[in-house]
Amino acid sequence: MKRIAILGSTGSIGTQALDVIKAHPESFELEVITAHSNAGLLVQQALEFKPNAVVIVREDLYEQVREALQGEDIKVYAGSKALCSVVEMGTVDMVLTAMVGYAGLLPTIRTIKAGKQIALANKETLVVAGQLITDLAKEHGVNIYPVDSEHSAIFQCLAGEFHNPIEKIILTASGGPFRGYKAAELEKVTKAQALKHPNWDMGAKITIDSASLMNKGLEVIEAKWLFGLRNEQIDVVVHPQSIIHSLVQFEDGSIKAQLGLPDMKLPIQYALGYPQRLKSDFPRFSFLDYPQLTFEQPDLETFRNLQLAYEAMAKGGNMPCILNAANEVAVSAFLRDEVSFLGMSDMIESCLAKVAYIANPSYEDYVSTDGEARALAMECKCK
Ligand code: NAD
Ligand code: MG
Repeated sequence: MKRIAILGSTGSIGTQALDVIKAHPESFELEVITAHSNAGLLVQQALEFKPNAVVIVREDLYEQVREALQGEDIKVYAGSKALCSVVEMGTVDMVLTAMVGYAGLLPTIRTIKAGKQIALANKETLVVAGQLITDLAKEHGVNIYPVDSEHSAIFQCLAGEFHNPIEKIILTASGGPFRGYKAAELEKVTKAQALKHPNWDMGAKITIDSASLMNKGLEVIEAKWLFGLRNEQIDVVVHPQSIIHSLVQFEDGSIKAQLGLPDMKLPIQYALGYPQRLKSDFPRFSFLDYPQLTFEQPDLETFRNLQLAYEAMAKGGNMPCILNAANEVAVSAFLRDEVSFLGMSDMIESCLAKVAYIANPSYEDYVSTDGEARALAMECKCK
């Protein structure tokens, strides 16, 4: 029986993780759930799953949650500090980091320091501070199990191969809703178009990141840290059907791939249940429904965000942290119609050029870099 805390239980990953937990009462117990502002859904989840504790990050919603859960044996906390304390509870074995963005960094650090296992969906944390997080995880003997479908695919291909060196990995990308578009067409795309992903139903931020290929850039950096790879060992190929979730090539030239329908419940369940493959009733894939699986080169000239991510990774230090912060500001500006689709790349490029480079950042350096990059990105947005 694994006792699970879900940070971000009201989001796309969080709600699907609850479905997985509900389907396997013999394997999982829900200890903690947290949400930023969706108090209504958090309360509903708490009443159904009866966790030990809930956290609502927005402190002004505390009374609402507390009142709704009155009479229940459920502890109610509020604020971002409480997020960092609940992961340390003695009754938690594993933390699923399913919140979005840089806000995941500190709770992830606290989870590792408390020696709890991690199922990691919050890729931004590894992008921002991959070296710090992986060093800490080693020091505290904490395993980080990937939830991201591509990284889960690679992890599944590596099962039984951990003694065999990887020659390279190939991350697949759907290409998003604007695959094949050129800059002139991207100039005019709207928020509504960008929010319609062809294969996956996800939170708003990652959906925009998928449309701009920034998501693949973040995933390249995520893979570097999860699997201890050199930059040149990570390839990206566009595979519009999203059936092959990613591939690993070994030193004898053999390639292993993991396939399935695009459904995040499978990688979530694999991370939570590892090393067990739990039975599921998820729809099964049939080759006959997909007579053609196709592959293309990503267009780095048009989709500059992926190129910017490669460059940030190559420079290392605090550059990926700058990339992430500028991107978070750019995406929320785009979602408020304050910047155009291509304007997002301009904001990120400008921040990468202007924020001071730090080769070996400490935690404090990441915090100040994030703040500086956000402030600068806001200025660029206003122009
Ligand atoms: P979402 O927007 O649907 O949900 C985000 C969750 O995080 C919500 O529960 C929200 O309450 C919480 N949250 C938001 N801001 C917070 C803050 N400042 N502090 C604490 N909690 C906060 O997002 P999602 O699509 O579920 O994605 C979550 C993470 O998983 C992201 O890092 C994303 O890149 C990653 N991921 C998602 C998918 C997917 O299919 N949705 C796939 C792979 C990876
Ligand atoms: Mg992914």
